[in-house]
Amino acid sequence: MKSRVVPPDLFESRELRRLPLEVKWTLIGLRFVADDWGRAPIEEWEIKALVWPERRDIGSDEIVEFLLLLDEANELAIYHHEKTRENYFQLRAWPAISHRKGEASKYPEPPADVLARFAGIEPESFRAWEGEGESGGESVSGTPAAAASLPLPPPPFCKVHMPHGTTENCRACGNRRMANQHWGREQLAIQQAVQRGEPVPAPPQ
Ligand SMILES: [Zn+2]
Repeated sequence: MKSRVVPPDLFESRELRRLPLEVKWTLIGLRFVADDWGRAPIEEWEIKALVWPERRDIGSDEIVEFLLLLDEANELAIYHHEKTRENYFQLRAWPAISHRKGEASKYPEPPADVLARFAGIEPESFRAWEGEGESGGESVSGTPAAAASLPLPPPPFCKVHMPHGTTENCRACGNRRMANQHWGREQLAIQQAVQRGEPVPAPPQ
């Protein structure tokens, strides 16, 4: 195992401070899982074995949950690479290590939106539907809430297992699937109402 530097985020980041100790400890552990570029493929059981070998109450579900929380806290980014069909994490705070010329990580680089997020650039500018934003904004007469609720189905898997899912049982994926199915049923109800010329059922809340 190589020595790794721990950045002061553990104490300085407000978001991270609020998270359970287990999440913070996992973040430190991930620094030893990662390669010299601060990234690695996400293998829940490997992370569990390295960081939490003795804790029976921490399994792959918990590791997935910790990763999702750390992604939300912007301490790392979870991303998928289409060619390898694998998911990776990239740690945000990573010291500038002088690599030898021509040396590169054997894992694919995170996409541009991840790097922008790390640099503090608003993710809005990277939204896929950005091009339609202007006309869409006009048609709903300046109600951003209505524009935001345009039907985009919630993803059927958790971010760790997007977009191909997993053969293992993942609790976070299970919750996502339920939300996705619920959305599908709602959309069907709306379509049927429209076909029958009935009033469209109001979304919950
Ligand atoms: Zn999952």
